[in-house]
Amino acid sequence: MKKLILLLLIYLSFSCSSDKINDEEIICTDSQLGVNCPDTDYIKNSDSQYVLPWEIGKIFKVGQGNCTDGSHSLGQVQYAYDIDMPIGTNIVAIRSGIVVKVIEKFKDLEIGTVGAIDEANVIHIKHEDGTEAQYLHLTYNGALKNEGDNVNQGEVIALSGNTGKSTGPHLHFHVMQALNECEDTDPRENYTWYSCNSIPLTFKNTSEHCYGLLEKDLKSEGYTAESY
Ligand SMILES: [Zn+2]
Repeated sequence: MKKLILLLLIYLSFSCSSDKINDEEIICTDSQLGVNCPDTDYIKNSDSQYVLPWEIGKIFKVGQGNCTDGSHSLGQVQYAYDIDMPIGTNIVAIRSGIVVKVIEKFKDLEIGTVGAIDEANVIHIKHEDGTEAQYLHLTYNGALKNEGDNVNQGEVIALSGNTGKSTGPHLHFHVMQALNECEDTDPRENYTWYSCNSIPLTFKNTSEHCYGLLEKDLKSEGYTAESY
């Protein structure tokens, strides 16, 4: 019996000390800014398996971040990013995978015009866990890989552009949850377009971003892709 009490005491002392560690506050400078999705749990960027979709050494700014009042408001694109970049910028894979969809037949829009939502050039890359990265608004003939190709993280896969529902040259990208984990969280009754959700992303090769990448009005210097 004494042994049992001793074991219990040891167990209790261990569980108390681990609670103490969990209670430590995570300090994040972003928390002082007006972040868009305050209730979302973003993975600490040093623990993320994703890299920024541009080449190491390059710096780009976020035109539209997550959970906006604009086109990134609901399920499928809630956790999308729009990156301002000139037409023809090299896009790299944020994670390794297999190319499952390519569209590159649409012409880039003239400045001041906006195209149709289904006329964007795209490349989709499925990851080993079933999630899928979707890169949109590529330039005409801007996919550098074919369906079925395996791509490595950081490999150049496409050239950015200004096709589809776009108001200027930029890359829109998001990662969809795996099909078998699809949840319809769209509040509109019988509305099935957003049947799969995007997932919150952070990136291991840039500066701290506890609430996802911040838009350029909060982060005017943009984000540098660092080596990893
Ligand atoms: Zn977008």
